[in-house]
Amino acid sequence: MPSWSIHRLITSSVVDEVRRLGYSCSEEFLRGVYEGVVDPDRSPDIESVTRVRVRRGKLYIREQKTYARHHGASKSIIDYYYNLSLYYARRGDLCKSGFMLGRALHYAQDYPLKRRKWLILDIHEKLEGEIEEIADDVINKGFCRDSEDVAKDVKKILKQSTKPEQVLCTSYRASKAMIMQYLNELREEVDKKKLAKAVRTVKTVKWLSGLVLWTATFALHSPTLLLFTIFASIFIAMYRPSIYYKAMRAGLMIVKPVGTKPAYTGQEKVPACHKP
Ligand SMILES: [Zn+2]
Repeated sequence: MPSWSIHRLITSSVVDEVRRLGYSCSEEFLRGVYEGVVDPDRSPDIESVTRVRVRRGKLYIREQKTYARHHGASKSIIDYYYNLSLYYARRGDLCKSGFMLGRALHYAQDYPLKRRKWLILDIHEKLEGEIEEIADDVINKGFCRDSEDVAKDVKKILKQSTKPEQVLCTSYRASKAMIMQYLNELREEVDKKKLAKAVRTVKTVKWLSGLVLWTATFALHSPTLLLFTIFASIFIAMYRPSIYYKAMRAGLMIVKPVGTKPAYTGQEKVPACHKP
């Protein structure tokens, strides 16, 4: 998106519509949302890619770091901030919850803008200019509103385009879907004790299977088994079942995204939420 004012324009228009549909959003939550929705441009997330190369019989492992993409962002970063937002909501911190939802909204709003036409032509500045010109009209006159108001899946809405109206309306619809999904999910009861127990069971099984594998490897002295055990251990360590994400949304634990170093991991202060 070209400017912070457009991010805030889309967000406030969606909040108005969602309120008209009977949902309530507290002032504290919205204070976080309006700061969070511009924050990824101030505090970027870092994506890291590990590249493995074999050259002249030698193995080279290199980690490449770049700023996380905004246009066509990775869905895992959108999911991460959405889950983090529910994590804080379930722990009673509505401002931080709004702030993290704002960050997820920023990526979802930036997503639809396609930078290149016919693969080579970089039209992103031209397109941003066109969006800037029509945004007030398109958003304020409600051109992007759907007739039906059911909660939709954000990921199914997110598609890229080089047409300014389409970019704006996809941003709008994805934002609406995300906010509605968040508010609907918060209405549901969660059994934190049951979830915590399930997570403990998964962690124990993971730990035990690692132990069994390594014990067998040392007992049998087999190089083939050693190689298998190394790969299996990496897989076991990386494996994140859906129950982990459920536990994150319930406020029990934070699951970091694969391949991304997020700007917020639960330890950082959010200045917008520390004002009196
Ligand atoms: Zn951006």
